[in-house]
Amino acid sequence: MTRVRFAPSPTGMFHVGGARSALFNWAIAEQSGGTFVLRIEDTDAARNRPEWVEGIISALAWIGISGDSPHFEGPYFQSAYEQQHREAAAKLLKDGKAYYCTCTRDDVKARTGSEHQGYDGYCRDRGLTEGALRFRTPDEGVTVVEDKVRGRVEFPNAAMEDFVIVRGDGSPLFILANVVDDIEMRISHVIRAEEHLSNTPKQQLLWQALGHEPPVWAHVPVIVNEKRQKLSKRRDKVALESYRDEGYLPEAMVNYLMLLGWGPGDDREIMPWSEMMPLFRLEDVNQAPAFFDEKKLRAFNGEYIRALPREVFIARCDPWLDPSWDRAVFARVADLVQTRVAVLSEVTAQVDFLFLDEPVFDQASWDKAMKPGAAEILAGYAERLETVSWDPESLKTALEEVGLAHGLKLGKAQAPVRVAITGRTVGLPLFESIEVLGRERSLARVRAALAKLG
Ligand code: GLU
Repeated sequence: MTRVRFAPSPTGMFHVGGARSALFNWAIAEQSGGTFVLRIEDTDAARNRPEWVEGIISALAWIGISGDSPHFEGPYFQSAYEQQHREAAAKLLKDGKAYYCTCTRDDVKARTGSEHQGYDGYCRDRGLTEGALRFRTPDEGVTVVEDKVRGRVEFPNAAMEDFVIVRGDGSPLFILANVVDDIEMRISHVIRAEEHLSNTPKQQLLWQALGHEPPVWAHVPVIVNEKRQKLSKRRDKVALESYRDEGYLPEAMVNYLMLLGWGPGDDREIMPWSEMMPLFRLEDVNQAPAFFDEKKLRAFNGEYIRALPREVFIARCDPWLDPSWDRAVFARVADLVQTRVAVLSEVTAQVDFLFLDEPVFDQASWDKAMKPGAAEILAGYAERLETVSWDPESLKTALEEVGLAHGLKLGKAQAPVRVAITGRTVGLPLFESIEVLGRERSLARVRAALAKLG
């Protein structure tokens, strides 16, 4: 039975890298009819916060991973299993696979003459009955980790120190708690970030010492920014929530995240989860760092937006429209908006001019459009707006004629009108916008801009 797990520590906003690991696990669970266990590794009380736990759960649900699926189990909280962690440590002690040690860092340094030297095994055979617990690692040979992504990775045992599994105060370390939970939860595959590869030989030894076959290991590549630096929360926009809040569609996000280190082949990139999930194979995950390309993600999102059925697009825009804005008016321009936004948060600024008493004037746009000659265009067009037949074609012809009378091509003549009407230099097609805004309001705006020009 395939049982995978996702084991985040709630020490900050939920990271896109975490989301990618979660999705790889999710794909394996779904395609095998197995189970995805969510385990919150919350033993570091000083760095954990309940809102970050909530953040993880809601962000996972946003990308489709939740208790709504029969493949989902949890969440479990690591802190609830401390008793099991201690019992496992006690068993290792009883079996002679772990021993007490009272050395301080300074003691080790004094003996080995180096800060960087690992533990020298001083307490191995002293038979102490208190202190920190260290795991007795083999002195010779190699520990071989068979990793689905990295292949066969050898770790010489001589370089592996007898590592601490329980602190002097009795609290178990992550390295032990993580293994004990995986054993108790009958995890078959550990699929996680590459940064944990260095822990893996130690954890594999712990699995064996506790009497279990180690799981299938798979360490997925790091994610880097355009400077090839590891994605970091200080430098990069990494919180999944911030993408959600900007109006990325979860299906686009899922699609893009799956491509960080993997691809369905055939040069296909845009592919829905239902098609991608059965194709995913750990063996096909790359070792090379994966580039998180925000521009590409945006482009993906734009494609997903354009592919939405009209009604779905309208419904998805709802959170970006003020509750007081008339949805019937929005529906009249929805098709125009749908082809012009890459993220849903852009919808607001595209259409706000239709609903506000006055457009939001962007000063730079105003300065750019209201050049000498702008007043003449506005005055001429205001006159035409009073009587022109109210359809985009006629509205356009009228402005063309006004422009011509002042020696301006349509493109130039449009600029002051667009700013007067919408407040901005870019946006929806102008004449459709004017049509939807209506004669009176359009006229009032052109006149108001004229007045403002003095
Ligand atoms: N709690 C660990 C982390 O967030 C996960 C370790 C693991 O997946 O084994 O990095």
